[in-house]
Amino acid sequence: MRLVDSHCHLDRSEYGADREQVISRAKAAGLQRAVLIGLWRAPGDFGDALALRDSDPGFFAATIGIHPHESADAPEGDFEYVERLASDPRIVGIGETGLDYHYDHSPRDVQQVAFRRHIGWSRSSQKPVVVHVREAHDDCARILREETAAPGGIIHCFTGGPQEARTYLELGFFISFSGVVTFKNAAPVREAARQVPLDRILIETDSPFLAPVPHRGKRNEPGYVGAVAETLAALRGEASEAVAEATAANALRAFRLSPTSP
Ligand SMILES: [Zn+2]
Ligand SMILES: [Zn+2]
Repeated sequence: MRLVDSHCHLDRSEYGADREQVISRAKAAGLQRAVLIGLWRAPGDFGDALALRDSDPGFFAATIGIHPHESADAPEGDFEYVERLASDPRIVGIGETGLDYHYDHSPRDVQQVAFRRHIGWSRSSQKPVVVHVREAHDDCARILREETAAPGGIIHCFTGGPQEARTYLELGFFISFSGVVTFKNAAPVREAARQVPLDRILIETDSPFLAPVPHRGKRNEPGYVGAVAETLAALRGEASEAVAEATAANALRAFRLSPTSP
């Protein structure tokens, strides 16, 4: 079974002790590639996603961005760093960026400005934008619509329902499902998962967060992404292998990755 984890945070300290084993387990589980989301942590510090990518460029790919939670904290110089790195050939996507009105860690107007800037760098670099959106679908869709020439991207860890999914599909986006789709209480997400065309679906772990059933509550890892594929397959009445293969191919297409080479 060929799998791609389209969104993980494997450079975080949760994997300080056993990162190599986590990567080995992912490969043993059939992962062909994993996309590392490179995020701002502190002034001048974007973590180790790019270094981890460079350690195994045939397996990993990396993005760069400033999370909406941190959009008010990151200094201007670090926004300019994202702009510079956007054109680096090692970077395959811009973000995650977007709007999170659930936590409101940064003021909404500041999140919106940062989101638009990331979309602009996505446009100038012709790389997909990785969108984090929580309880902000109306503003998110409006901004994506206003930024008309954006080259599309991925709605990551989709938490909306069928109507929101349709909106993003019309805007040309891929919908990425995470472990949330395995949670029985996530009825709207599960209904959306039945309806999105197979050629527009990505799967992800968002490791270390949101471990899918049966690992729920534990530290997540990319090797668990198969559980997301299996749940999607069950919801859609399709074979797990077909969902794994299609979502892997979609991820490679979304990030313009070659299957086996850097
Ligand atoms: Zn996110
Ligand atoms: Zn994330």
